[in-house]
Amino acid sequence: MAAQTLCSAFSSSFSGRPLHPFRSPSSSATGFSKPPRSLTIAAAAAGPLLPHGRRLRAAVIGGGPAGSSAAEALAAGGVETYLVERAPAGAKPCGGAIPLCMLDEFSLPAELVDRRVTRMRIVSPSNLVVDFGKTLKPGEHIPMLRREVLDAFLRERARSHGAEVVHGLFMGLDLPGDGEGPYVVRYISSPETAQQTLEVDVVVGADGANSRVAKAIGAGDYAQAIAFQERIRLPTEKMEHYEDLAEMYVGGDVSPDFYGWVFPKCDHVAVGTGTVVAKPQIKKYQAGIRGRAGEKITGGTVIKVEAHPIPEHPRPRRVRGRVALVGDAAGYVTKCSGEGIYFAAKSGRMCGQAIVRASEGGRRCVTEGDLRREYLRRWDGEYKGTFRFLDLLQRVFYQDDAGREALVEMCGDEYVQKRTFESYLYKRIQPGNPLEDLKLAWRTVGCLVRAHIVGEEMEKLAMAEKIAM
Ligand SMILES: Cc1cc2nc3c(=O)[nH]c(=O)nc-3n(C[C@H](O)[C@H](O)[C@H](O)COP(=O)(O)OP(=O)(O)OC[C@H]3O[C@@H](n4cnc5c(N)ncnc54)[C@H](O)[C@@H]3O)c2cc1C
Repeated sequence: MAAQTLCSAFSSSFSGRPLHPFRSPSSSATGFSKPPRSLTIAAAAAGPLLPHGRRLRAAVIGGGPAGSSAAEALAAGGVETYLVERAPAGAKPCGGAIPLCMLDEFSLPAELVDRRVTRMRIVSPSNLVVDFGKTLKPGEHIPMLRREVLDAFLRERARSHGAEVVHGLFMGLDLPGDGEGPYVVRYISSPETAQQTLEVDVVVGADGANSRVAKAIGAGDYAQAIAFQERIRLPTEKMEHYEDLAEMYVGGDVSPDFYGWVFPKCDHVAVGTGTVVAKPQIKKYQAGIRGRAGEKITGGTVIKVEAHPIPEHPRPRRVRGRVALVGDAAGYVTKCSGEGIYFAAKSGRMCGQAIVRASEGGRRCVTEGDLRREYLRRWDGEYKGTFRFLDLLQRVFYQDDAGREALVEMCGDEYVQKRTFESYLYKRIQPGNPLEDLKLAWRTVGCLVRAHIVGEEMEKLAMAEKIAM
């Protein structure tokens, strides 16, 4: 998370103005496809009015933050909504760090938050330690929560707005042969074992990184990271250390292309790491992060071991027919940080509201053009630039230990910290100070050059030692 916060600051610092979509001709690096030509043309098409007394029917598959937020918006907007979740009592493997603005934007009650982190410690490969947080104003913090708590709350709220929550395992989707008829959702409802069906007019795929909805519509694949996490209950005196502190470790020993974290929860810490390029060695890197955190987490009891894929970029197709993908199913997780909770909830809500708008409160059917115009285009307009910039920064700073050293050195800068927290906590960027932005760009180059020179010298030294032996 902290890497992303830093990176967000850079993105604004370099541009000196709010993040905006790139206008680069190529889009393949992050998987954001160029909007198809039909986007603007199809926009004018409105679906037919539904027969009197019949509401638009929507199935939302997956009851994580993306699905529940979509279902809430749909049901509140007058759409007949079914939210299908396979494991309502489950806990999504997750660090559980969210931006502060999400509390207000999604009206999350204070009691959902386990810890309020005001210090984010980032530790370099050479164990240079930088504390983030000096620039926080009173009351500002990073909320840390458990996903089982957040997800249950959001699902219940969707239900209270009128969504029918179905405890069931989604098995597949039959597409309308002529493109006009209903979609048939096949699922096994718990505790029964027989397959059941549900006919709907529109489907929202919010079933996470292994999305079956994405497969059903041929949305195409994306690269994935694997993230591994242990929840460790610490003795009270050790837990006190993490009262308001989260730690992030970078280095080839904890991940070749990501970072390791220690995030505090109510009575335990979540300790984890991730990688795209070396998935089979994830346990070695987990041992690495445990080693780096060292004494601070020894003597604890492991209460849960969990792992899950994290998408690396959006899918080639996120809307097909009257089916839209949101959250991890669509691939909305930022590089550098693996931050996806806010983007999942936001995309779910945006998609739900788009359907409500296009269907005029559930009175009309919607078209692919509606989904592209009202959901995809708005989403890309708001976030495409952010995702691309973080992708670029990951490549600069996570490439090797020299880059990681530079990253941590940069984090010591007060201006970087201020801009970083602003952009992470509030997901909006105030225009920066042009002179400070210029200085920051210059310092960044300086840090990178210095770190690489030191790195090369270290390598030469190590080589000379080997030859001498
Ligand atoms: C180890 C780890 C740590 C992370 N830490 C952070 C962090 O600190 N902060 C952050 O912002 N992000 C973090 N992320 C990313 C974040 O967890 C995801 O981006 C986020 O959960 C996406 O939400 P979602 O609703 O799209 O998908 P999910 O949360 O994956 O929800 C999908 C839902 O669909 C259900 N489902 C799946 N298949 C079916 C089916 N066939 N039938 C019915 N239901 C189904 C699942 O049970 C689940 O409830 C982390 C991820 C991992 C793996």
